[in-house]
Amino acid sequence: MNADPHEIEKFSELAHHWWDPTSEFRPLHDINPLRLEWINARAPLHGKDVIDIGCGGGILSESMAKKGARVTGIDLSKKALKVADLHSLESGIEMRYKHISAEDMAALEPGKFDVVTCMEMLEHVPDPASIVRAASMLVKPGGHVFFSTLNRNPKAWLFAVIGAEYMLRMLPKGTHDYAKFITPAELSQFIRNAGLQVEGFKGLGYNPLTRMYSLNDDTDVNYMVACTRPL
Ligand code: SAH
Repeated sequence: MNADPHEIEKFSELAHHWWDPTSEFRPLHDINPLRLEWINARAPLHGKDVIDIGCGGGILSESMAKKGARVTGIDLSKKALKVADLHSLESGIEMRYKHISAEDMAALEPGKFDVVTCMEMLEHVPDPASIVRAASMLVKPGGHVFFSTLNRNPKAWLFAVIGAEYMLRMLPKGTHDYAKFITPAELSQFIRNAGLQVEGFKGLGYNPLTRMYSLNDDTDVNYMVACTRPL
């Protein structure tokens, strides 16, 4: 199984905090409107079948459903999925959450989705290329796939590990393992090898003074990539 049990356990332990915007998950709440609009501008979500790989408590999944998409969220943390499920009941939003790996889901429902999202997850997985291949299998020809992760270089180490975990204490220590960060060149290679086409990168910048995130063209730390599956 392409999963690190310590990673799944880490996210399970924090699961009850998922929808607390002042918790460890604050960065995900803060970046969500930015990534949602970026995705929606490239792949208008209304009426689309979407799968969110590594959905956690469903921050992105639910927001995509609010845009009118039919969203399936998959994750290997049962606790996170439970929280996601309960939250969708509270919100009155119809969601489908499943405890299944991306690879198994790809074998079960290949080519079923107009849009595949996989955000802030590849850097927690032993074999990220395998997740990229699964995403490629899940998307329909002509469909869109979106990934986000952390770049691997001294600046990313300083900002994402030292800054966020030690100085600003935005994240618990040990949240991120620098060795697992992925450069845009590496991710592009995974994407091409999986038969997808890279459409564009976007950087996610954080200003610690204003505590605000913004989208820019600096992919040095946290970045997203948009891809399509050719027809
Ligand atoms: N994508 C969500 C959550 C990111 S946190 C968001 O951006 O808001 C990372 C998530 O990946 C956690 O929920 C964790 O349980 C999940 N995860 C880690 N390894 C995984 C794997 N191998 N398969 C599926 N999910 C995994």
